[in-house]
Amino acid sequence: MEKIANYINGKLVNPNSGQYIDNFSPVNGRVYSLTPNSGKRDVVAAFKAAKKAFSLWGQSTKQYRHDWMIKLADAIDDCEKELAKAESFDNGKPLWLAKTVDIPRCSANLRFFATAILHFDSKTHDMDGSALNYTLRPPIGVAGCISPWNLPLYLLTWKIAPAIAAGNTVVAKPSEITPYTAFLFSKICQKINFPKGVINIVHGHGDTAGHEIVKEADVVSFTGGTETGKIIASTVAKSFKKCSLELGGKNPTVVFADCDFDMSVKTAVKASFLNQGQICLCGSRIFVEKSIYKPFVKEFLKKTKKLTVGDPSKKNTDLGAVVSKQHLQQILSKIKDAKDNGGKIIIGGKALSLGGRISSGYYMAPTIIENTQYTDPINQEEVFGPVVTIMPFNSELEVVKMCNHTNYGLAASIFTNNLSRAHRVAAKIHFGLVWINTWLLRDLRIPFGGMRQSGLGREGGYHSLNFFTETKNVCLKIENNNNI
Ligand code: NAD
Repeated sequence: MEKIANYINGKLVNPNSGQYIDNFSPVNGRVYSLTPNSGKRDVVAAFKAAKKAFSLWGQSTKQYRHDWMIKLADAIDDCEKELAKAESFDNGKPLWLAKTVDIPRCSANLRFFATAILHFDSKTHDMDGSALNYTLRPPIGVAGCISPWNLPLYLLTWKIAPAIAAGNTVVAKPSEITPYTAFLFSKICQKINFPKGVINIVHGHGDTAGHEIVKEADVVSFTGGTETGKIIASTVAKSFKKCSLELGGKNPTVVFADCDFDMSVKTAVKASFLNQGQICLCGSRIFVEKSIYKPFVKEFLKKTKKLTVGDPSKKNTDLGAVVSKQHLQQILSKIKDAKDNGGKIIIGGKALSLGGRISSGYYMAPTIIENTQYTDPINQEEVFGPVVTIMPFNSELEVVKMCNHTNYGLAASIFTNNLSRAHRVAAKIHFGLVWINTWLLRDLRIPFGGMRQSGLGREGGYHSLNFFTETKNVCLKIENNNNI
């Protein structure tokens, strides 16, 4: 069985304990590799390497860092096919999705921040000629970057790229559920002789390896579940280190009667089920204005029926496997609770047994639930699977209330052709990202992140570069000379 290795100080190394975690492919439910079960000693070794590397990398020119990052992005592009195949097998997502979204975004993340750092600037505050204040933005030190399983390499590089562009070095940990592409990424770094110690990758469980990283790091960037975010926030609180938290969501899709009907249904289906509904931005609560509720549900159901759940490696597969057996069981248990509360499953609601080589994989039918109240647990708790509820609403006022009735505040989509309504509703709902007549249209420069229990801080563009740098003001007094 293949053993995944940690990547520390430019070398692929085994965990000190010699212990490993089984790595399952959700595609066929079998263990196909072993993940290092790293602990404190591995993390300490990674930080030692990262600290040493920081003394050079942190002092290097922006152009030097840019050039290395572009070299790494090129090397990722050269391995695009292998990475996409690995991501699909490790995570269960359709291969076409890994090929068109996940892997291209890894190199795009590196290219974007490699270039952004060349254009990064800071402010000067002139005190009417008597003094000049200028702001320096030095790197912080060693960044701890922790990422989840739903977009494994995409989100890992989304953190590593701005951290190293700004001059920090990194100790990163991918999810123990999807570690494989981070391992391939380590091999790529090694192959191109990426400066050693700048990027270190330690695999393992969150409460052991992850927790040690959070304790050791000078700055922490985390994406994952809200409950984990709370643990991390309490750990960093003791040392006041900077911490960015990108957490869960319970995102509304709001469809007004005056929308472009066909486009809205099509986009809502995509927002519901892309990546098996395992994108933090997926719209899992669909609110439809009463006058078009019945035709909307009919068309939404028709389109959902046409989705193919199947072998992720096949071109016509719309939904692959959900990430793990445990996750599948959690999704099914949330559906059962919704049913017990009076919810009506109009399609799906069950795991699927598919034949052939994928017969033991973790497949789930796309599920639509009607007859729920916006206050029900199914509309409050994140399911993070191919499950949506559809509910009618009567007025703008009512739907704003329904949308905001959640502890989360990550993303929302509004479908309407009434410009004023679009602006009004966007302003009234408490979500960090609002799309109008679209979904998942991403610009890497925008402030990305959630309100309330969906997170703390923003990622993207200069927001990420600001986060990974200190803000230092220098005040220079200018003596008056009355002779000139
Ligand atoms: P998770 O919180 O279980 O794990 C995320 C990462 O944190 C993993 O690498 C895990 O090993 C690590 N971890 C767990 N406990 C830790 C601890 N005590 N200290 C340090 N690290 C620890 O989340 P998940 O199940 O992997 O991912 C799904 C969640 O991620 C969903 O809630 C989803 O909404 C969220 N997510 C959010 C965004 C966003 O941008 N807001 C993006 C993607 C996913």
